[in-house]
Amino acid sequence: MKGSSAMKYIDEFRDGKLARGLARAIAAEADPARSYRLMEFCGGHTHAIFRYGVQDLMPENLKFVHGPGCPVCVLPMARIDQAIAMAVEHGVTLCTYGDLMRVPASERRSLLKAKAEGADIRMIYSTQDALAIARADSGRQVVLFAIGFETTTPPTAVALKVARAEGLANFSVFCNHVLTPPALATILASAGPESDAKPTPGQVELDGILGPSHVSTIIGSRPYEFVPEQFGKPVVIAGFEPLDVMQAILMLIRQVNAGRAAVENEFTRAVTRDGNAKAIALMSEVFELCDSFAWRGLGEIPASGLRLREPYAAFDAERRFPAEVVVAPVVDHKACECGAILRGHKRPQDCKVFGTVCTPDNPIGACMVSSEGACAAHYSYGRWRDEASRVREAA
Ligand code: SF4
Repeated sequence: MKGSSAMKYIDEFRDGKLARGLARAIAAEADPARSYRLMEFCGGHTHAIFRYGVQDLMPENLKFVHGPGCPVCVLPMARIDQAIAMAVEHGVTLCTYGDLMRVPASERRSLLKAKAEGADIRMIYSTQDALAIARADSGRQVVLFAIGFETTTPPTAVALKVARAEGLANFSVFCNHVLTPPALATILASAGPESDAKPTPGQVELDGILGPSHVSTIIGSRPYEFVPEQFGKPVVIAGFEPLDVMQAILMLIRQVNAGRAAVENEFTRAVTRDGNAKAIALMSEVFELCDSFAWRGLGEIPASGLRLREPYAAFDAERRFPAEVVVAPVVDHKACECGAILRGHKRPQDCKVFGTVCTPDNPIGACMVSSEGACAAHYSYGRWRDEASRVREAA
């Protein structure tokens, strides 16, 4: 049966027996005399690790460090304030994805609260939905609040090409697309020592990187080759299923043990070295690098964001609806550790309000709102409770 064979394919990458075999191989090859600190770049990896209990199958000396690979989490508050201003002050119809609706803006506002107060903010499932809303009412200005890494950039490019071809004068894009390699470079530039020597404050200790999954299906594995070349750290591109993650961990351990650093690809069923040529060409036709983009937690990173190229400038929402007042950068809630978590410096349970004041029902920071956020992963799958009780028992 066609449907069941498709499900079997996914099941194969979640097979418990195979997972136990991989866990034994990892335990056998991990050197007990050293530690392995592996950063999973993507929120999808973080969720696979917690949802399937991968951490519980790892040796004690292997630690995961969560990375910044959640596009909602890295979006600074000022950009959400700017989007709310477009909807409230300029009266546009603002279209965005569901994850963004509850992300806290300044003064405890959010897109959802602005919608409740009367702003026309609509949740969409694809860029095509935003185009359809614009076509349906030419009297309304429709703004697509576009966010995401390289994975979601091509659909925004398609929407812009279609809007331009149709002369859709009431459609524009508030562009917040960002790039993963510069973020990784920023983290690695502050990374700590390779040995077990103590890092200085502010450094994150890393021995290897689980490389982006869906992003790499678009840009390929080649853009990560600077990691071993400049920073001497191994990268293994990994899929989002638990066996993908475990196989990639084994590949990283082998590189670390051998003193090697290269980009390897575990996710060969979807990722090539050069990526998706059509999608890359589309992105470069519509977008260009902006000088700098402010990332929540990582700060300003040069050449890490995209803006619309000149032929598409008429569809740039920031030009069409300039902020009436300068939108100043807004700091997160003072208890929130999202920034340190996104830099790999802290874990969710290090935040004083994790699981008490801050929960998925009442999120204080973006890492608890987004389905890809590290705090949401820790809270949803409850592994932090197991860890907390182990610590209590050991005390
Ligand atoms: S638990 Fe909440 S407040 Fe704390 S770091 Fe995570 S999102 Fe921020």
